[in-house]
Amino acid sequence: MTLIQHNLQQLHQRIRAAAAQYGRDPEDITLLAVSKTKPASAIEEAIAAGQLAFGENYVQEGVEKIATLAAHQQVQWHFIGQLQSNKSQLVAEHFAWCHTVDRLKIAQRLNDQRPASLPPLNVLIQVNISDENSKSGIMLEALPELAQQITALPQLRLRGLMAIPAPESDYQRQLAVCQQMADAFQWLKQHYPDVDTLSLGMSDDMEAAIAAGSTMVRIGTAIFGARDYARNPQQ
Ligand SMILES: *Cc1c(COP(=O)(O)O)cnc(C)c1O
Repeated sequence: MTLIQHNLQQLHQRIRAAAAQYGRDPEDITLLAVSKTKPASAIEEAIAAGQLAFGENYVQEGVEKIATLAAHQQVQWHFIGQLQSNKSQLVAEHFAWCHTVDRLKIAQRLNDQRPASLPPLNVLIQVNISDENSKSGIMLEALPELAQQITALPQLRLRGLMAIPAPESDYQRQLAVCQQMADAFQWLKQHYPDVDTLSLGMSDDMEAAIAAGSTMVRIGTAIFGARDYARNPQQ
């Protein structure tokens, strides 16, 4: 077994343990392997261990890996980075999911650019739940209007919400923020039957996210090891 495969096994154990502790079904929690800056060979090791959902942050880098790994048709690619409108076409054409929709203009472009030959692009609305320094994500007050606008776009399928809470080491405070996201998710689910995904929880707040009701945790370093940005000048 390779290190990546060992790490994946450990993470599945951690997810199962958190699910058991908080009364969740572990089958309801998807592990999204965040592979930004990592080579296609590392992703192939993960695929060999049964990992099928991968998250990429940089459009060009992601599209190159999707092409390299095209033979693995069962793999699902999620775009989880900040999306500039001049890059939306590549996301619409190559990814199955986009987690970072936070304005109508981007949603409209993704809808118009999604090829008719592909199923609708699965999208999550990114919410700025606690990070005053981040410009990404909508305020919760803006959720009803953006959700309504997105569900009117035929080439998009609104699946839920995503957030990147500000770093916080105290579990109770992590939980309080995750709970606000979970409440918004429940509200959205009641209004839109396709909604089933709450993308919340990274290495340091995964347990709190699972306790609150996350259905998708996004983990990079704990699977693939530390990132070496020096080798990737575009970042
Ligand atoms: C990089 C990234 C992750 C994974 O972070 P790690 O600390 O490597 O686990 C998760 N979500 C988003 C949006 C990211 O950009």
